[in-house]
Amino acid sequence: MSTFGGLTLRPETLRALRQLGWTAPTPIQARVIPVMMTGRDLVGQAQTGSGKTGAYAIPLVERLNATVRTLQGLVLVPTRELALQVSDEIRAIGREAGFKVVTLFGGQSIERQFADLRRHPQIAVATPGRLLDHLQRGTVRLSGVIIAILDEGDRMLDMGFLPDVSRILSQTPVSRQTALFSATMPTAIHAIAKQQMRDPVWVRIATPMPTVETVEQFYLEVAEEDKVRALRRLLNKEEIESALVFRRTKHRADRLARALRSDRRVGVLHGGMRQGARLQALRAFGEKRTPILIATNVASRGLDLPEISHVINFDMPEDVETYIHRVGRTARMGRPGTAITFVGQYDLEIFDQLQRQLGSSLKRHSLNLYR
Ligand code: AMP
Repeated sequence: MSTFGGLTLRPETLRALRQLGWTAPTPIQARVIPVMMTGRDLVGQAQTGSGKTGAYAIPLVERLNATVRTLQGLVLVPTRELALQVSDEIRAIGREAGFKVVTLFGGQSIERQFADLRRHPQIAVATPGRLLDHLQRGTVRLSGVIIAILDEGDRMLDMGFLPDVSRILSQTPVSRQTALFSATMPTAIHAIAKQQMRDPVWVRIATPMPTVETVEQFYLEVAEEDKVRALRRLLNKEEIESALVFRRTKHRADRLARALRSDRRVGVLHGGMRQGARLQALRAFGEKRTPILIATNVASRGLDLPEISHVINFDMPEDVETYIHRVGRTARMGRPGTAITFVGQYDLEIFDQLQRQLGSSLKRHSLNLYR
């Protein structure tokens, strides 16, 4: 392999990609990599599952220098899980070239991170809060940053991180290259692009409804008090290889997990859990020991969980965008998937919006609870 689908890369990067089994760029990679390699700023609208991590990870390792001992690449992400996942991917892509990647997130001992930082990593993947903590302690310096990536910008916005992101970027050189990725583009994301970036190239990879074609989407009308019964039936009836069951809050996620306690297939993941417990839940899900995972939006966003056959919206998503994000967790990289959304008596307004957007691709499920 002398190029990556026509993209000329260093031999070390090509070797690393070959080890990963990547033979050609995904559409977003084909469009983002050449732009980022020229050093230009970029705004990328893309969903998780499109290969967007690789789209910025490859330019990072191509443009930065692994023989220099300063921090040159900074990736900001909203959650710890995403931080770990993105670090793994950058580490894999940069391994052959000798890059060191540090992961900085809350919930892990800061001393351990001090030790990692003393090894002079070239790239840091961080959640904003913990990175600010390090900056205040003087354990991280950003004056050598050449490329800054803001990943899942809309999620960082939802979680209230944008002020932190601005404070962090103000400590990097103005000459830096900046790339921002986001699945959706609310006005606040446009604003940050305007404030923090120079004449960015906009790349948009996504039809407005990217998941519609490959995901079979159903709704199921079910009264609030019958939802647990409906879920039990579905879990026994459907051919479920692995499922994410979404709840709106961590308390509701816990409550549902308790109600399904007797089903050994069920695990739970939410932001209120300790870091160790979250990683354990993820691992059990990944290894199919608990192939049914009850999760909140925040906990599940951005995770690379490649083999989800079903997304079940036990609680109706807050809005259409959240719906698309959740449903996008199945059918990644073009695989087929099924989404089932429970519509309760209080969900009619949002259900109406969903129906208007999705039209005939949202079908009524055949399960009849009341027969
Ligand atoms: P992402 O959208 O970055 O979360 O990536 C989704 C999944 O696709 C991850 O498991 C990646 O490792 C994988 N992936 C990304 N780019 C490629 C590629 N060019 N070829 C094959 N797999 C890829």
